[in-house]
This record gives sequence, C-alpha cells and structure tokens, in this order.
Amino acid sequence: MPELPEVETVVIQLQRVVGKKIATLEIKDRKVIDSRIRNILPVTINGIYRKGKFIVFKLSKKQFLLVHLRMTGHFHYVKSEISGDYKKYLAGKFNLDDGSFFTYNTIRRFGTVRLMDAKEVNEYFAKQGVEPLEISSRHFINLIKKYPGANIKNKLLDQKMVMGIGNIYAQEALYHAKVHPKRKIAEVSDASLGLLHREMQRILRLAIKNNGTTVDNYSHLDGKGDFQNLLAVYQQKKCPREHEIQRIVIGGRGTNYCSKCQS
Ligand SMILES: [Zn+2]
Repeated sequence: MPELPEVETVVIQLQRVVGKKIATLEIKDRKVIDSRIRNILPVTINGIYRKGKFIVFKLSKKQFLLVHLRMTGHFHYVKSEISGDYKKYLAGKFNLDDGSFFTYNTIRRFGTVRLMDAKEVNEYFAKQGVEPLEISSRHFINLIKKYPGANIKNKLLDQKMVMGIGNIYAQEALYHAKVHPKRKIAEVSDASLGLLHREMQRILRLAIKNNGTTVDNYSHLDGKGDFQNLLAVYQQKKCPREHEIQRIVIGGRGTNYCSKCQS
C-alpha cells in the first residue's frame, strides 16, 4: 500500500494540474468516484496537498476532493492523447479546460475519490494523528509514551496517533533505530524513542527523494519509485550488515527485523 513517501511523490507531481479547471468528469466506476463531483463542475483546482496517506484537492466553491489510493490507486496525467495507457483500470477521467486530462485508476477498486466541504474535511482530519515529518522529538516521545503497554510497531501504524506510516516504513525506521519490533513502548528508553523519531523522519525524507518504494504495483505519474533499492529489512533476506533477517507476525502483519542489530 502506498505510504507517506509514495503519496507525497504523487502530490508533488500532481502540482502540474493546479490552477487548471476541471470542465467535465467521465465516471467509469461509481464505487470509486463520487458522482456528486459532477454537480459542482466546472471547478478550479486551487491546490493539492497531502495529509497522512490522503491526497487533498482544494477546489474553488469551497469544495475538496479527498483521495485515498488504498492498494492500487494511481493517477495518469495526459497532455495530449498519444497512447491509451490511461484506459487500463480507469475509474474516472477528469477533463481539464486546456484540453489535457488526468485519470484516477485502480486495479482492485478499493481506492476512493470523495467530495467534501471544508467542514467535513476539518472534522475528518481532527480525528486523525499527527504528521510524522512535522512533529518534534519531544512531542513524539510524549505522544508515544501515552501508550506504554502497546506494541511499538503496531503504534507506529496507528493512523490516529501518527499519519502516513505503514508496514514498510515502520519496519525500516525500527531497524535504523535499533529497536526490536516486539518491544512494548514502556520497554524502550527515551533515548531510543528519540532515535526512532530521528530515523523515522530521515527514512521518510530519503524515500520521498527516491520517489517512494515500488514493491507491488505502486507507480507515480512518471514511473516507479527507487527506494526499494535502499530497504534494510522489508522484503530483504539480509540486513545491511549481512545478518540473516528474521520474519515474525505482529498484529497480523508480516514483520522483518534483524535479531543482531535490533534489541
Ligand atoms: Zn543486522
């Protein structure tokens, strides 16, 4: 599933449609695309930004599109039609006023594009966690220590505590912070939690620089990510120090770690 760096990559690339006007919308899959969007057209895209794993389109008329990619959602942007690549798994085609268009596609039909007003957007995100790249070390340590009995890896995945981290970056951050994924939060020292905060931010930033991780079928507008080449434990057999990787299940999710590097 796309996590923060993958979604951020898509958001950076989608900036090319900011300022354009959505003139018409062709809906191929009503389960994925909110058909009420048609009622507000034409509408201008005033901004596109990321919140956790969500992409938010800020539109004119005080309206918003809330996009979640789930497992297989992705966008195409087409300036002028030369190939029909965008037609594969097409859910919705947003025709812009300059003749270009973007499409939202999803292989497994789990992703969503929902219309919301400002109040609904604010209410929705008020219930979500903090942004991991915006939180200070002190704030992060205080926040996570509110759950002393919780498993540390499960808590990193809890979107109501911190948004945007999934199974890949939780495992990577724990490896680089040298923290065993089975630890309860109460068992981890403040120094280690501080290191976890630092490594979490470093890994997320490095992954954004590398356009995210492509392990299944994540693709951004211009191709695939490169961070899979820099993974330390996720889907790896050996850690960067050449130790054998262990695989366990925590909270129903496969979890890789190194028993020599992490304690
Ligand atoms: Zn190791």
